[in-house]
Amino acid sequence: MEAVLTDYHVHLRPDEDGTPPERFFTAENADRYLAAAAGAGIAELGVSEHIHRFTEALTLWHHPFWEEQAHDDLDAYCEFVRRTELRLGIECDFVPGAEARTAELLGARDFDYVVGSVHFVGDVAVDHPGWDIWEGSGDPDEVWRRYFESLAACARSGLFDILAHPDLVKVWGRAHPLPERDPREFYEPAVEAIAESGIAVEVSTAGLRKPVGELYPARAFAEMCVEAGAAFALSSDAHRPSDVGFGYDRAVSWLRDLGVAEISTFERRRRRLEPLGG
Ligand SMILES: [Zn+2]
Ligand SMILES: [Zn+2]
Repeated sequence: MEAVLTDYHVHLRPDEDGTPPERFFTAENADRYLAAAAGAGIAELGVSEHIHRFTEALTLWHHPFWEEQAHDDLDAYCEFVRRTELRLGIECDFVPGAEARTAELLGARDFDYVVGSVHFVGDVAVDHPGWDIWEGSGDPDEVWRRYFESLAACARSGLFDILAHPDLVKVWGRAHPLPERDPREFYEPAVEAIAESGIAVEVSTAGLRKPVGELYPARAFAEMCVEAGAAFALSSDAHRPSDVGFGYDRAVSWLRDLGVAEISTFERRRRRLEPLGG
């Protein structure tokens, strides 16, 4: 088998409000991403738009942020991606209580993979000014405990193939208080759920571009996943072509240091482990 690099968690457009899909869901834009991937030696490139950009998301959740963002048609997106060389994915939040509706929404489309995310804990988000979890109690033990419990539920739901940016709660780095306890205590329930569910753990270079300035997940989290026999997936979470494969030199040597020699690839929601390239 040939060694391979993947970039599966990729957005075709920025996160700003109101960007019309017609500007970004074009063959030319897909080609810009494909060219960037080819230049970075990435053989497997897929896109995973946020579920909350699509009106269908409102069958899962009625959060005001989603209501404001949900304009596009999910099937039009799927049809567009299928006309390109891109793998078809989606980034879908885990919405507690909406498991059956989420399964129905995802199962009705022929995705190559689904990236499962936790951005919100309850009604507030760990990475979202405006819906900021840190404006509440701000107790880091409480925030981290609740975040990793949600992540565990996300993994355990069985709805998703890849667990996105697994310790996103650290995104702001030292701008918010960090727990004093050994973070492994917080990781534990999530790693247990990862091991039980078999979901692939995303190594995301997006964290290198954020205030925290390090990969998702933290090394200790990844070590626990390795010990638990988890599979890994590799992505940049790019929102523009120039970020495709961002920081991969670092991510690949980091994975090799951990003893990870294989990476997950997906087709029609079937996973294969292939030798890690780069
Ligand atoms: Zn995300
Ligand atoms: Zn994303």
